[in-house]
Amino acid sequence: MPIAPLPEAMSAEALRLLDALDAAALWWLSGYAAALARSRATRAPSAPARDAAARERLTVVYGSQTGNAQRLAERLARDAEADGLGVRVVRASAYPTRELAVERLLVVVISTHGDGDPPDDARAFVDFLCGKRAPQLPALRYAVLALGDSSYPQFCATGRRVDARLAELGATRLIDTGEADVDVEAVAAPWLARALGCAREALEPAPARSATVTPLRAPPAAGEWTREQPFAAALLANQRIVARDSARDIRHLELSLAGSGLAYEPGDALGVWAVNPPALVAAVLEASGLDGDTPVCHAGRSLDLRDWLARERELTRLARPFVAAHATRARSDDLDRLLAPERRDTLGAFLAGRQPIDLLREYPAAWTAGDLVAALRPLAPRSYSIASSRKAVGDEVHLTVGVVAYEAFGSLHVGAASQFLAHADDDQRVPVYVEANERFRLPSDPTRDIIMIGPGTGIAPFRGFVQERREIGARGRNWLLFGNRRFRSEFLYQAEWQAALRDGCLHRLDLAWSREAPRGYVQDRVRERGRDLYAWLDDGAHLYVCGDATRMAKDVHAALLDVFVEHGGVDRERAEERLSQLVEEGRYARDVY
Ligand code: NAP
Repeated sequence: MPIAPLPEAMSAEALRLLDALDAAALWWLSGYAAALARSRATRAPSAPARDAAARERLTVVYGSQTGNAQRLAERLARDAEADGLGVRVVRASAYPTRELAVERLLVVVISTHGDGDPPDDARAFVDFLCGKRAPQLPALRYAVLALGDSSYPQFCATGRRVDARLAELGATRLIDTGEADVDVEAVAAPWLARALGCAREALEPAPARSATVTPLRAPPAAGEWTREQPFAAALLANQRIVARDSARDIRHLELSLAGSGLAYEPGDALGVWAVNPPALVAAVLEASGLDGDTPVCHAGRSLDLRDWLARERELTRLARPFVAAHATRARSDDLDRLLAPERRDTLGAFLAGRQPIDLLREYPAAWTAGDLVAALRPLAPRSYSIASSRKAVGDEVHLTVGVVAYEAFGSLHVGAASQFLAHADDDQRVPVYVEANERFRLPSDPTRDIIMIGPGTGIAPFRGFVQERREIGARGRNWLLFGNRRFRSEFLYQAEWQAALRDGCLHRLDLAWSREAPRGYVQDRVRERGRDLYAWLDDGAHLYVCGDATRMAKDVHAALLDVFVEHGGVDRERAEERLSQLVEEGRYARDVY
């Protein structure tokens, strides 16, 4: 078979040479070629050329876990380009850090996760910036847009760190760091407008696009379905996939994308706009003593209060700004104390289990309909990893959804989107759009092995991966490590995995059950099967982790370190380096939140 990207004569020559090599030499050569390609791709232009290029352009660097930071960075870059400015937009993992020293105008858009961690694609960038090798930056002017979730104590910690460090290195801050909460646009939109204004003042519009400017992705074509303009997908199936006696409700959903033109790849996510549960809307109206029919005009739109609460406002997530707004009305010393800056940790715990309804009930206060709408956060869409391959399911998209429902403060609390989806019936249309996730992709070489670690609903993308590999006849092996509470009631997609084992599309399956003997988590299987796992990785396998970010992903990472120490014969520091190298090579990818 010819080597596709090469001309015929070169392909024949390459095949002749490769044919003469044994397996060890082939592996060595693949590593050598990859390193060569990397060094060519990142080879720096000459110093004067770099300086000149940097003087006349804006560089936008983003670190993004769920795609929000990327979307905003690309928007800023597009707007700057439309204004005739020289601009390049770069993912933090692809940013050549040696160019920082010659950069003149830099905007960093970066999110924060877990305990104040950077997104996976920005770890190396943040480490470099905060490390000893970072250069002094007296000629740099910069601005940082930080994204986060104010329910967590380490709100926007990564953005703040980047901002403080750039200042420490001698760079000049152009505007204060923007700190965008989950309703990203409220802060991001005006902040980006200011950043663009600064860029305009700092840079002369480029008469013709400079050769150093990276061409930007074209704006979405008219009619393409987006976050702002979602597609109304028909519901095809909504099936509970845990046993009746399971304490949890996990759903397999199938939606139709027919007629939308929407495309997705395995690894992408589906954004879903939910409607809040009517019972929760009614409870908020009752607790605030307001009439749902009251018309409310806000941000140029007029809707009844009931519609604002049902479709436009977050009622299932509580955030600091609403607590602050409520505290001034409730005149509560308790709430004032909770909001004190030194109490961030306590506030995090307070916000975690509560919803706005709990606050309204616990600390009664008088609201007007308009003020309530203004104080509550705009409803944000929820992302679900896609659990299907288009090659296998055509115009459909499948999801695996854990339904959030728990008792707290004397009433049932539910998750907005999971309840909406769980209760969706045949006539329901679900507003959706596709969120590309370029960092969670199957290897382009189908002969590569893959290892997939996905406990709970973290299994979702791996169903899509295995479907895709079956459809394309990939020769690489597929290894799945799955965990849940109980074998009998929560073995998600059991029949499909067993069929895949039989038909040779799944080569290994390791299971961990946390609430029945012998108890274990996926990371226990990682350690037990460490020798094989190490051998697969050493042979070039790609490793994927999907699921809970706060505990599981960290514990699995720690187990992988143990595997490298035990079977790779390296110390912990070197093991960390090896894992970072895998991330850099795109062979260790995580879809965790
Ligand atoms: P879950 O029920 O909370 O947990 C699944 C299994 O993982 C249980 O057996 C649980 O054991 C175990 N577990 C608990 N702590 C663990 C740890 N530190 N390490 C390894 N395993 C651990 O899972 P879920 O409700 O399905 O939620 C999965 C997570 O994935 C959620 O955070 C969700 O947001 C995220 N996620 C979902 C998707 C999707 O599209 N559905 C995509 C990406 C991420 P015990 O409970 O018995 O301790």
